[in-house]
Amino acid sequence: MVHRSCLIWFSLSLVTATVAAAAPIKVLIVDGQNNHAWKETTPVLKTLLEETGRFTVDVATTPPKGADMSSFQPNFAAYAVVVSNYNGDPWPAETVRAFEEYVRNGGGFVSYHAADNAFPEWKAYQQMIAVGGWGNRKEEDFGPMVRWSGGKIRLDANPGICGHHGSRLPFQVTLRDPDHPIVKGLPAVWMHVEDELYDSLCGPAASLTVIATAHSDPANKGTGEDEPMLMAIRYGKGRVFHTTLGHDPAAMRCVGFIVTFQRGVEWAASGKVTQKPPKDFPTATETRVR
Ligand code: ZN
Repeated sequence: MVHRSCLIWFSLSLVTATVAAAAPIKVLIVDGQNNHAWKETTPVLKTLLEETGRFTVDVATTPPKGADMSSFQPNFAAYAVVVSNYNGDPWPAETVRAFEEYVRNGGGFVSYHAADNAFPEWKAYQQMIAVGGWGNRKEEDFGPMVRWSGGKIRLDANPGICGHHGSRLPFQVTLRDPDHPIVKGLPAVWMHVEDELYDSLCGPAASLTVIATAHSDPANKGTGEDEPMLMAIRYGKGRVFHTTLGHDPAAMRCVGFIVTFQRGVEWAASGKVTQKPPKDFPTATETRVR
């Protein structure tokens, strides 16, 4: 006969074993060059992931701009997801090949803010991020601009320069795929803090899901279009989450940025989101910061 206290002990051991089995998701942040303050923003990205208790985070930093890049050869395959906070010199050919293979074979990738300005000459990278801006991109060379109208994606083939934003102001973000795991359970419309609202991004725009948009206000030098802010892209077996938000640490304090980033990294890594929507999420009219 088994004593009751032994049974309780056994059950508790099982619970402990189950929790221990949920191994943390391994994340690699890449940085080292950017026209943004990457030395300030990478520690914020790292902390935001670590504070969920679901991730362990390493950082791979490239040599500085203009230096020999041949030493930059991270072992992407050791991670479930790579987050780019990089916008700079081309990577060595071997690293480019390794990264393409990594995502094509099912590795996760997250393009954060100006990472979608990077590598205009790298075709596979443009396919991963779907759309990008600046870097002398023109719509006629890179692919259509992506706008949202009439409840669906509209590919805008008019020629033009890709990548623009007005002054940093608060703006509303509207979910367009509310059942997507990254945003499921979050408010349909929420007020983001002062940030750059990217407009006129262009690219191959293949295998693209627009998760959320924002209206680019002509009164703030905008396009008058609903522009993609959060996107999900398939590249081979890999999942890509593309967030245009988070210009600086102040913009990254928005709970809307924080939560969509944390959930987007988990989704890119695993295809699932286990994080619950928080209680302090912004509403349609009020920002919320942490
Ligand atoms: Zn910016």
